[in-house]
Amino acid sequence: MKKMNDCKDDCSVKLFNVSAVILVMHDSIPSGELLTEWEENGAHITLVLGGGLSAKRSTREIRDLPKKVRVVDIKDEIKRNKVSARIKEAIMHTDAEAKRTILLTDHPAAVAGGRRKGLYTIIGLTLDKENLRPFYDEGANLVIHNPEQLEIIENSENKTGFIQEIPGLFKNKTSFESRFGKKKPVFFFDYDGTLASIVKDPEKAYITDTMRNKLADLAKNHRVSVVSGRDKSDIEDFVQLEEVIYAGSHGFRITGPDGLYMEQENAEKLLPGLDEMEEELRIVLEQKIEGVQVERKYFAIAIHYRNAPPGTYKKIVQEVNRLISDDPDFKKGRGKKILEIKPALDWHKGKALEWIMNHLDLSFPDESMPVYIGDDVTDEDAFRALADDGIGILVGKHSQLSAAKYHLDDVEQVEEFLEFLLNSDRF
Ligand SMILES: [Mg+2]
Repeated sequence: MKKMNDCKDDCSVKLFNVSAVILVMHDSIPSGELLTEWEENGAHITLVLGGGLSAKRSTREIRDLPKKVRVVDIKDEIKRNKVSARIKEAIMHTDAEAKRTILLTDHPAAVAGGRRKGLYTIIGLTLDKENLRPFYDEGANLVIHNPEQLEIIENSENKTGFIQEIPGLFKNKTSFESRFGKKKPVFFFDYDGTLASIVKDPEKAYITDTMRNKLADLAKNHRVSVVSGRDKSDIEDFVQLEEVIYAGSHGFRITGPDGLYMEQENAEKLLPGLDEMEEELRIVLEQKIEGVQVERKYFAIAIHYRNAPPGTYKKIVQEVNRLISDDPDFKKGRGKKILEIKPALDWHKGKALEWIMNHLDLSFPDESMPVYIGDDVTDEDAFRALADDGIGILVGKHSQLSAAKYHLDDVEQVEEFLEFLLNSDRF
């Protein structure tokens, strides 16, 4: 996946080798022209109509659709179960793999239906730029404002993938600043790949002194948190700033100045189960596959495979799946060259951020505006949580579509961003 930074608004998403597009539409449908274009680029199109559109079936808008578009009318409001069944039919009808099928919908209930059917790419569509959360809360990967943002591209390599444009922060400083209005910013930083470069040995992912000093300067005037998948004590040791709030284990443990404290008690009960899995993973993976590193964190086990030989990934995933398949208490997480086993609790970086915002007495969201900067898939939970009331900034790239509003290229640009904040009159 590549990123380009010259777009400002309604940035494009190029999707490669899509076999099927299922549209579940309540209010409006994309133009016949656009659907023809998608079709010419290899996508079978199913249009499921519900709610307001059901009643308007015979209008000109619908008659102008390309002939090959299969139209299904649910003749009712769009509801989770009903849509789920229609999506299943559409998948069977087009015979497309889940990873080559895109669901595009203007109704949050359809997002939930698509999730249930195991679709990988679910895109919400709404004109209301202040109201994206209903789509993200149901599990949308991305919410766009205009179907023309989606480009479907067929290429000879026949590989799936995407290129998502995200506005570059430095090219859009004015728009970034203007988002705050009178609100006070609150800053959240991921650690690895954001404040410190990713290195081969995770124990040596040090933050530079200049980055630390800038972070300390920022913390003089603003609330600053570091939110990481690492253990809390681990990031504290790296960052070494007393004035910062630390959220470790994706937010399972949070501490900060003035007695700020939170710990997920339900996760404590799962520690013995983690102990057992750790032992087994060391035997079946660490000792058997060279380069695999099993790292026990307080509330999770990370399996690092950055240094493992190519072709061993499948075996690693199999072993992880085997361990957690019968155990509803745990779930699998992914990051950059990391698999993780963690408690299957409904808690993540986004919820940790909301917890911190609500416990800082900042009148959120009326008087304060959180900004979250991160580089990995787990940071998307925070970007989605901030879709309506904050700003997500993606550093570099990862393997999924991103809900971030701005983009920075790398850790060096994060430092430049800190410099910009420190020098800006606005902050
Ligand atoms: Mg990271």
